[in-house]
Amino acid sequence: MTTVFKGAEVTAELNANLQQRTEALKVKNINPTLAIVRVGDREDDISYERGATKRCETIGVDVKKIVLDATTTQDELLAVIENVNKDSSIHGVLLFRPLPKQFDDNIIRNALSPAKDIDGISDASLVGVFADITTGFPPCTARACMEILEHFKVDLVGKNVVVLGRSLVVGKPVAMMLLAKNATVTIAHSKTVDLADVCRAADILIVAVGRANMVSEKYLAPQQVIIDVGINVNEDGKLVGDVNFADAEKIVGAITPVPGGVGTVTTSVLVKHVIEAAERI
Ligand code: NAP
Repeated sequence: MTTVFKGAEVTAELNANLQQRTEALKVKNINPTLAIVRVGDREDDISYERGATKRCETIGVDVKKIVLDATTTQDELLAVIENVNKDSSIHGVLLFRPLPKQFDDNIIRNALSPAKDIDGISDASLVGVFADITTGFPPCTARACMEILEHFKVDLVGKNVVVLGRSLVVGKPVAMMLLAKNATVTIAHSKTVDLADVCRAADILIVAVGRANMVSEKYLAPQQVIIDVGINVNEDGKLVGDVNFADAEKIVGAITPVPGGVGTVTTSVLVKHVIEAAERI
């Protein structure tokens, strides 16, 4: 029988802990605050913003929204980032990317103070993940995978973990975080030979490829734990993961659902990072 690792179970525990920590900060007159910087009106960004704002409200974290026109210049955005960096009432900053094409992404993401970089977009934050030191924050999605594994008490020590996907947002950072927990990690990607065999050999398979239902029966083995990071819209307009859930349910030991898995935990991790940023002060 396959266990479904529901994100809601993880967030219930996380949120209760975060509410307590927020109250403790407020007793010290620190009001944990997230600034959301959005350029333009992309539907994905607005939907994530809505979810993040609601989760902040539930936990007691304040939100300041800075919405800029899609025609904003690089200098104007850099000035906004400088202001949020300096503003001591703001503890964490969520900056939506990809940005419109007039921006140099490397300049913008590295302009953000690592102390407030709660979604791990700056090089300084990524150095922190790779060196296993507290500089900045890991990307929220990568940490959400780790929170799920921890919540459901999945033993990582010496386990064969395959991370399918090597983006800087998910694949690479989560691989480093798993390594720090003493897992034996393989990073697979579009050039990996015999990909299905590589995946089938894993005890734990983390999938972040962005291809609806790509991971089918031939990639899966009994007793595996599957973390499906993918969020895709299929031909019927339905939200599906990178893993074929119907196939997985017949075979594996445990799997995160889509929707209701990694995505929901990611939002709570974002709030957790704001609170951690406030606590570090
Ligand atoms: P990405 O930057 O496009 O990276 C995709 C990775 O998958 C690349 O490393 C690519 O390999 C690999 N890949 C693509 N097609 C493949 C194939 N046929 N076989 C093997 N590997 C393949 O994507 P991402 O930003 O990491 O996001 C991945 C998925 O996670 C998306 O569905 C996205 O929507 C979702 N996501 C979810 C959350 C959340 O909170 N749940 C957050 C972020 C992203 P190469 O490097 O060789 O090209």
